[in-house]
Amino acid sequence: NYAAERHITVVPEIEMPGHSWMALYVFPELSCTGKPWKKPDTVAFEFTDPFCAGNEKTFEFIENVLSEVIDLFPSPYIHIGGDECKKTPWEKCKKCQKRMQEEGLTKVEELQSYFIRRVEKFVNSKGRQIIGWDEILEGGIAPGAAVMSWRGEEGGIEAARQGHHVVMVPSRYLYFKSAYQYDPSTVPLRETYDYDPVPAVLTDKEKQYIMGVQGCLWTETVYSDSIAMEKLLPRLAALAEISWLPAEQKDFSRFISCLPFHYQRFDAMNWNYYLHAPSGMEDDIFYTDRYLITLSSEIPGTEIRYTLDGSEPVLNSTLYTGPVEITENALLQARAFLKNGKGSMVRTAVYKKVALKEPVNPPALRQGLHLTVRKGNIQRLDQLTSLPVTGQGNISGFLIPDSLQGDYFAMQFEGFIKIKKNGVYTFYLRSDDGSRLFIDDEEVVNYDGVHGAGEVSGKIALKAGYHAIRVDYFEARYGQILEVKWKDKKDGDKEPIPASILYCVR
Ligand SMILES: [Zn+2]
Repeated sequence: NYAAERHITVVPEIEMPGHSWMALYVFPELSCTGKPWKKPDTVAFEFTDPFCAGNEKTFEFIENVLSEVIDLFPSPYIHIGGDECKKTPWEKCKKCQKRMQEEGLTKVEELQSYFIRRVEKFVNSKGRQIIGWDEILEGGIAPGAAVMSWRGEEGGIEAARQGHHVVMVPSRYLYFKSAYQYDPSTVPLRETYDYDPVPAVLTDKEKQYIMGVQGCLWTETVYSDSIAMEKLLPRLAALAEISWLPAEQKDFSRFISCLPFHYQRFDAMNWNYYLHAPSGMEDDIFYTDRYLITLSSEIPGTEIRYTLDGSEPVLNSTLYTGPVEITENALLQARAFLKNGKGSMVRTAVYKKVALKEPVNPPALRQGLHLTVRKGNIQRLDQLTSLPVTGQGNISGFLIPDSLQGDYFAMQFEGFIKIKKNGVYTFYLRSDDGSRLFIDDEEVVNYDGVHGAGEVSGKIALKAGYHAIRVDYFEARYGQILEVKWKDKKDGDKEPIPASILYCVR
């Protein structure tokens, strides 16, 4: 009643068939192995384990739970999850295999839709409809079922086209456990605000199936109420505008300019909230003569304070009033502050002054690189020269020739790179197994050792002209990958080094 009096409908969610380890931990007989359930070491890996879909007791249990839930919640929709279900236990389970045979199912994916349809029938028999994550579309659903589109907008678009009601929850914009800024995976406030939950590709009729939008805060890595509030605020203010303001009235600069008023309310309620750290700092910057550090904060009413002495910025640290010029190595730490003294996280950046490397004066050149191939088993690149040379020749760029598939070989690319402009260049190696890159005998990137394909980078300041370049690479076992890329402008994209600027001795 408390919710109903406030025109709020609470939609309960009971996860199935995957994401069920907590139920299986208590009732191991409902899993495919039936064995006592080991509590997972990390939540992330085991939570997708499913109920046994071949065991009638599973459905008895779920129907009992749903009956209780339906009695408690007047919501017309009951959320039954349906997402991220690990299906390998079903492949190995005799009961599940028997069920598939009886139902004429050939794939475990079909067993998932059997599961969902069976539960849907039960929920319908109680006069309610199911809502589930977009995976439930995969096996087909009854006309009254609704979909929450979380893996992107595609599931929601497809569901609306099929005439199902949809709640848009694309994780890129609306999963609030992500960081706001300065993290490999962020959901920036601006992107949340700009998101329009009604896809333009839908017809007017299809658009009517978009019921609305939802923000999610999954709390498996949120360890306190205070962190939860910081993740939610001020994103909830952005979500409110997405939900309730006509799209043409949205205006991010107006929204941002109102944030200080929201902050006052949050303070009055004693709620924690996120204050954006200053923009304009990368993790580490190489420069050659002088560098102007330009900081900014998009939140009105904030001050930026910084230090260059390694101490953490506090309220009486130097106030940022304009670009800071540096001519030496520097460690900058900066924070935004509100008038009430609340500070943002500290941003740290290292500025390294480096000398431009002089170009070399190469002999007569031609296009391409010189390649030396060796065969044998090594674990590290310092063992490379111990291997016998099995081939030599010219190659257009840094790549593994088709003729060299298989295991246990090494390659050395040697030549010159023609640099057009003085500047700081970033080189990237992605390889399986080890690789390293030298410019003029200076090691710029080292990604040595036996490993899968990650990526490592390094920077070097180069004067215009020719510079010697060498890449060493070896493949031990399993996959072989070598990608050599660079970034030749500060704000440019990482891309392969063009063959047109690679040369070798004629
Ligand atoms: Zn089973």
